[in-house]
Amino acid sequence: KRTPVASPAEMPPKRKAAPKVAAKAGSSGRLQDAAVLWFRKGLRLDDNPALVAAAKSGVRHLCPIFVIDPHFGPKHVGVNRYRFLLESLSDLDAQLRKRLGSRLLVLRGKPETVLGDILRSGKPLLGAPPRLLMWERDTEPYAQARDAAVAKLAEKAGVEVQTFVGHTLYDPDDALKVNKGKAPSTMPGMVTLAKALGEPPQPLAVPSKVPPLPAGVKPFPVPTLKEMGYRDVGGKIGTHAFPGGETAGLARMAARLKDTEYIRTFEKPKTRSTAFDPPSTTVLSPYLKFGCVSARRFFHGLKKSIGGKKHTQPPGSLEGQLYFREMAYLQGLTVPNFDRAKGNPACRPVPWDKSAAKLKAWEEGKTGFPFIDAAMRQLKQVGWLHHLARHAVACFLTRGDLWQSWEDGRDVFDRLLLDADWAINNMNWLALSGVAPWSPPFFRVYHPVPKMDSALNVQDPEGEYIRQYVPELRDMPAKYIYAPWTAPLDVQKEAKCIVGKDYPKPIVEHERVSKANIARFKKSPRAPPAPAAGAKRLAPAGDQPASGKRPRR
Ligand code: FAD
Repeated sequence: KRTPVASPAEMPPKRKAAPKVAAKAGSSGRLQDAAVLWFRKGLRLDDNPALVAAAKSGVRHLCPIFVIDPHFGPKHVGVNRYRFLLESLSDLDAQLRKRLGSRLLVLRGKPETVLGDILRSGKPLLGAPPRLLMWERDTEPYAQARDAAVAKLAEKAGVEVQTFVGHTLYDPDDALKVNKGKAPSTMPGMVTLAKALGEPPQPLAVPSKVPPLPAGVKPFPVPTLKEMGYRDVGGKIGTHAFPGGETAGLARMAARLKDTEYIRTFEKPKTRSTAFDPPSTTVLSPYLKFGCVSARRFFHGLKKSIGGKKHTQPPGSLEGQLYFREMAYLQGLTVPNFDRAKGNPACRPVPWDKSAAKLKAWEEGKTGFPFIDAAMRQLKQVGWLHHLARHAVACFLTRGDLWQSWEDGRDVFDRLLLDADWAINNMNWLALSGVAPWSPPFFRVYHPVPKMDSALNVQDPEGEYIRQYVPELRDMPAKYIYAPWTAPLDVQKEAKCIVGKDYPKPIVEHERVSKANIARFKKSPRAPPAPAAGAKRLAPAGDQPASGKRPRR
């Protein structure tokens, strides 16, 4: 049944008018002249179409809210990312206060329940249901199911819903329409589509004012990590290199854009995977994930920074990186069962092994391969690692060495990454495990003892990266630091690191297992044919808490 209250996605400047909805009385018999702006991602004031529309809506009161969903807690979201989220909420609250005389009301509970109460009675924010509920569209399956449920509740209460596109460069529906309903699965295809769509819309300025909060509304402050169940945080948490929030994100983006030479010459495969202080890529991913910065603002910032001078091109350029991001959202939106092997036409059904011990060694950075271990420990400590380090560890866990399922690796990334993003994470795990149409050739396996000039672009002959994240190897001579088991015993003793005692022996013999794995991969069945249009998806993984499947954020 078509819901009369859901309005189409809206994206300036090609603004689609929201359907006119008669303000029906809710169950209480009246509606309050107020709007609720529900922040989820898009945790920013800049280029925020929903905020701009709220400012123009003509309502008397505006309640900017965020709902802390218990679905995402310590079990599924690592402490670094949760801290990033809380910092982003604090920053949004501070910006709303400082620039717009408003504030963020942080409610807690299942969004369908919290919003259900607001839509039915206005409580705990208003004396009656609001006239309008607004949000930025989110294409993740969990979010789609949640939003459909809330839209139904709004319809029942007679509250108008308006949704907006703000997370991507393009409106995904427009992009799919132009591409005949299919998501591009190659970078040339994505670039062609971007050309056909034209430049993404210009970002929107922060409105100069918004309707005030209703008088007497309670504070609903941002909770602490401890309140959210993150205990014993002290000591366990990593270096705080990337603070959350729009202010930090915009400062980071501005600093990068200011370096016009860096922007013009950016070539992803040439960026160094071991650079950590500072990293060699922008580290805008956590800010883009939560929408603390706008992809469109970044896109147009790149154009300005380049200023018409000679520059690198997609796929290696920064514009190209944004197209990879765009492609992931289109893939995630159209490929059935994108987040699993079963029923996923973009996944070759490889019969992976299941070894809890191997997965644990990989996750904890105890495989005995220092480059792999440094990357996995950086992931745990900091919540971010370079794209090529992600390549190395993902290949190692799956087709390269340990022959474990990409879904298991994906889940670890999903928990620990600051930038964990349902569509992007799945697209890249499908790629690196070799199973997707957009995978590199499965027989091209990364060596876990990389040469300095290999495609992993390590360029760290002294092993500074390893010394930083694997302190057991801090005193190992450079000659042996990537393969410490090859060091003579007296060298190991001198370095205070005996392999097998202070640091693990290699978990596998790479030369032997990688060969065997390539042979196994070759023999595995092909991906199933794509299902007919309109084929049913399995229920989104995040919607089945009872099954023990991990929800994703
Ligand atoms: P930059 O090189 O500065 O790129 C700018 C932006 O472009 C990034 O912030 C990101 O939003 C986008 N981007 C860059 N590379 C990609 C890519 N390959 N695919 C899609 N978008 C891209 N990225 C995530 O944001 N979330 C994830 O959950 C995620 N999981 C990954 C899992 C694996 C196995 C691999 C191999 C890659 C994954 N990536 C993921 C992609 C990529 O590694 C990161 O986006 C990038 O390293 C982030 O660092 P950056 O912001 O400095 O990137």
